[in-house]
Amino acid sequence: MRCMVFSSKSYDEEFLGAASSASSHQLTFVESRLTPTTARLAHGFEAVCCFVNDQLNRDVLNELHQSGTKFIAMRCAGFNNVDLSQAKELGLGVARVPAYSPHAVAEHTLGLILSLNRKIHKAYSRVRDNNFSLEGLIGFDLFAKTIGVIGTGAIGACVVKMMHGLGCEILMSDLQQNPELLKFGRYVPNDELFRNSDVITLHCPLNEATHHLICRDSLLMMKKGVMLINTSRGGLIDTKCVIDSLKTEQLGSLGLDVYEEESQLFFQDRSQQVIQDDTFSRLLTFPNVLVTAHQAFFTREALEEIAKVTLENLDDFANDRTSPRRLL
Ligand code: NAD
Repeated sequence: MRCMVFSSKSYDEEFLGAASSASSHQLTFVESRLTPTTARLAHGFEAVCCFVNDQLNRDVLNELHQSGTKFIAMRCAGFNNVDLSQAKELGLGVARVPAYSPHAVAEHTLGLILSLNRKIHKAYSRVRDNNFSLEGLIGFDLFAKTIGVIGTGAIGACVVKMMHGLGCEILMSDLQQNPELLKFGRYVPNDELFRNSDVITLHCPLNEATHHLICRDSLLMMKKGVMLINTSRGGLIDTKCVIDSLKTEQLGSLGLDVYEEESQLFFQDRSQQVIQDDTFSRLLTFPNVLVTAHQAFFTREALEEIAKVTLENLDDFANDRTSPRRLL
């Protein structure tokens, strides 16, 4: 199949190119994000391969359908950016890569917790500046602290096991309990998790039920000084409420790998530009906020797996095979 790969970077070309070399599929890489303006680039391509910030809304799907596209291969786990009901209406196939490396995201989550707590990012710059003072770098022992994990699927389960290994108490929340995790902690309603956790980390998908899960009311329920981590999707957090909570010091620290309006910012070098997003810029002024630009998935192992499974998804579609990775 001919497949147009949107939002492609050098690493996409490297890993998808290697995986496709032994296949019959022809991949064409474009740097552009898929948007209503760029959708026509896919004219004549049976498949498109998309990433987290590509826009697969009603208009774009209509355009793709009219241009002859039949299959959408998401090279990510989340699919909140795909209008599935419209895709279904048009008879488009959609598949994703559900769990390419839950360890990659879980380990980045741990990295954010440790860096934010022990201020390693600040210590790094300080020491390089010959400033060996410890003033302002005080952290807390994670041992025996309570960690709240919202969403205990592939990634959340890894986080639970890692944090249990550090000697933390674990509170979990999910629509479906994972019995394997009951030896590490207990499932509680969100309210109880909010009230009792010292660190809260989000690993549920973004959908209507979870949009702005972290809002004014949930923040007010939390312990004063709580650490909040989001490596899932930006829309889980109402960023303006989080900023208010940082200002009152109710929220003690914040670690983000995702941001609600990240599609306008992330995955590009904008170091020579004036950032127009005042909410994002305000976030960066807090000393107790650490942001990475959607890199939690970014390990060699994860990229290899994403490429391998994406090619399998193309194969399955080409050969009319069903698969648990198919959303439609
Ligand atoms: P998963 O499907 O294995 O697990 C998600 C879990 O969330 C499931 O157990 C589900 O039951 C639960 N859930 C759904 N609705 C919920 C709710 N309202 N409250 C609590 N739990 C709920 O997914 P995963 O592979 O663990 O990935 C989780 C999320 O991480 C993805 O949706 C994606 O948005 C994000 N992600 C981010 C990166 C990154 O680089 N930052 C990479 C991969 C995935």
